[in-house]
Amino acid sequence: MDDTSAADGETPESDPPASETPADDGTTEAPQQPNGEFVVDYADAAEAFAAVGNEYRLRIVTELAETWEWPVPYSELRRRLDESDRGRLNYHLNELVGTFVWKEADEGYGLTQSGRRLASSVTAGRYHEDDRTRSTTAPGACVYCDATALRLEQPAQRGTLVCTACETELVDASFPVGAWNGRPAAEVPRVFDEYIVRISRSASRGICPACAGAMVAEPVPEVIDFSYAMGHACTACPRATTVPFGTLAWLDDTVRTFLHRAGVDTDERPFWTVPAMVDDDTLTVVSTDPVSVEVTFEVDDARCVATLDDTGTVTHVREEWDLG
Ligand SMILES: [Zn+2]
Ligand SMILES: [Zn+2]
Repeated sequence: MDDTSAADGETPESDPPASETPADDGTTEAPQQPNGEFVVDYADAAEAFAAVGNEYRLRIVTELAETWEWPVPYSELRRRLDESDRGRLNYHLNELVGTFVWKEADEGYGLTQSGRRLASSVTAGRYHEDDRTRSTTAPGACVYCDATALRLEQPAQRGTLVCTACETELVDASFPVGAWNGRPAAEVPRVFDEYIVRISRSASRGICPACAGAMVAEPVPEVIDFSYAMGHACTACPRATTVPFGTLAWLDDTVRTFLHRAGVDTDERPFWTVPAMVDDDTLTVVSTDPVSVEVTFEVDDARCVATLDDTGTVTHVREEWDLG
């Protein structure tokens, strides 16, 4: 996970014969109905699924998911798959490029959104025979549509918080299925809230939530539905935790003081009702080298903008009151 591939310095002798971008093949954008909803094309979907109906290709997709940074160089992917046969790897990669995998010439490979979803489905054991999804209503209003129609779902070892009104997934995080044991299902959302906040706090302080080992952190682009988030990786065990900048800001004392003054009880509300902790629109990327972001909290007619650096530390807080 935290392996640095630059060390081996190997460059691919030849690029796999993959097409550059799927749009180049003359296809047009997906057909749309007048109301803007996509028409389901079952033939396209069946073709896409057929392309991943192969253990080796699923291995490629899950290997590509195991990184903080895309593209993954061809040589690195080949090493991780322990593949001596270039022709075999090239052939299967070529079958994936487009729907699940993207390719950047001379740079390497990354996962499309479909590829990311596929990888998490595979690794979360959603296709394991014993899988059964647990589900219960969750408190609070949706940050996107304001409806109180939230549900916590548990496919395998993940907790997924979805709004059934606007059909948006607000949170998708590692969550032990054991949380459903020994307590009524109605109590599990509270456990999910506390668990995620505790994990985030621990990781942000450099303490591995799994083994208490030291964690190293770096900003990671395009993860957990945010344009940037902090990735925390344990130096002693395989644990990795990604924390939104909004959560790091929400945990900061100065921001909490603002929230308390604005009348927010930070102990009462579940974290998914705080826009900064789920909605990328609250995040402004000020700079990418080094990474610097701003997170905005709005409460009634008051606003607080927290600036965070590439270590995930709040370096500046700007408050505005009586905005009317
Ligand atoms: Zn909603
Ligand atoms: Zn650890």
